[in-house]
Amino acid sequence: MDIQIIDRGGDRRLTLYAADTKTYQHFDGLPPVDSSAAHMRWHPLRREWIGYATARQSRTHLPSVADCPLCPMSEADKPSDIPVDDYEIAIFTNRFSAFAMEAAPAPDIAEIATQKGTGLCEVISYSADHNASLATIGTKRIALLIKALGHHITQLYQHDDIIWSLPFENRGREIGVTLDHPHGQIYSLSVLPNAIKTMAEAMAEDSPLAEMHVTCPETQKLAETDTAFSFVPSWARYPFESWVMPKRAVDGPHQLTDAEITDLAEMIAATAQKLDAVMDGPMPYTLAWQIAPKGYEGRYHFHLTFQPLKRSKTKQKFLASVEQISGLFLVDLPPERAAAILRGDEMIDG
Ligand SMILES: [Zn+2]
Repeated sequence: MDIQIIDRGGDRRLTLYAADTKTYQHFDGLPPVDSSAAHMRWHPLRREWIGYATARQSRTHLPSVADCPLCPMSEADKPSDIPVDDYEIAIFTNRFSAFAMEAAPAPDIAEIATQKGTGLCEVISYSADHNASLATIGTKRIALLIKALGHHITQLYQHDDIIWSLPFENRGREIGVTLDHPHGQIYSLSVLPNAIKTMAEAMAEDSPLAEMHVTCPETQKLAETDTAFSFVPSWARYPFESWVMPKRAVDGPHQLTDAEITDLAEMIAATAQKLDAVMDGPMPYTLAWQIAPKGYEGRYHFHLTFQPLKRSKTKQKFLASVEQISGLFLVDLPPERAAAILRGDEMIDG
């Protein structure tokens, strides 16, 4: 894997990953936006941190293809966030960050605790092709994506202030995506959100994922190779929720062998394709790469979760009152039926 790191000053860094050695033509990219005012405030009843980041209000919103900041640059007067003439995988610091490694002191606010918004927000572009997606970039590119994330997370975890990194993707305008170019993001945080801590502790105590490749009903498996598989879990909270994981418990992509990376890439591609196939078009979703937080190494099972936002071709799944207020999810489509539809054994309604 060819890795080229371009420091652009302060937190700003561009890392280019390619399968083979590459030479790039460089340009001046878009200027930075000051994110240092990011801070967190403690919610005394929910007992969790809330992030405040005013710099994000001005972020780029659904630009035309000609103005896409994730497309490679070909002209010096059309600056991009990825100021090179071509790339395979690019990771760069988000100009509109919710956190900053050099965050300013948090404001004093009566009666509640505050702290600096220490962290790092990055964007990861999967392809120079504006119209690609995880379902179309191919297993070789996804394998490179897995390797790139493994390398990058290892670097991020060397920061003392970072205790957990979350690579994720918001896909589709239904979920509020502001750029159509195929990309994900990486949030690296100095605090561990409650939901992630609960999940990590459950895995550390008695992981239901340890033997999942054996215990998962065959009818809920979507695809399988020697070392990886994809399935609809019996506890799915979203319609068509699909998980992808290596059979061997590892902390993250950095611990996978080349054979496991190849297999995992195949499973990610197959799952993304199945989700699009049932919709006859792009399925909007959130995708999480669940990597071990610091302190849980060796007691974790790295996995990916696709959380789709459509329950049929014409109906969207909204998180409404009960889900938003209480966290209790209400699911119209039983996981067993969702698996049957994704496998092509049953037809989708509507
Ligand atoms: Zn683009």
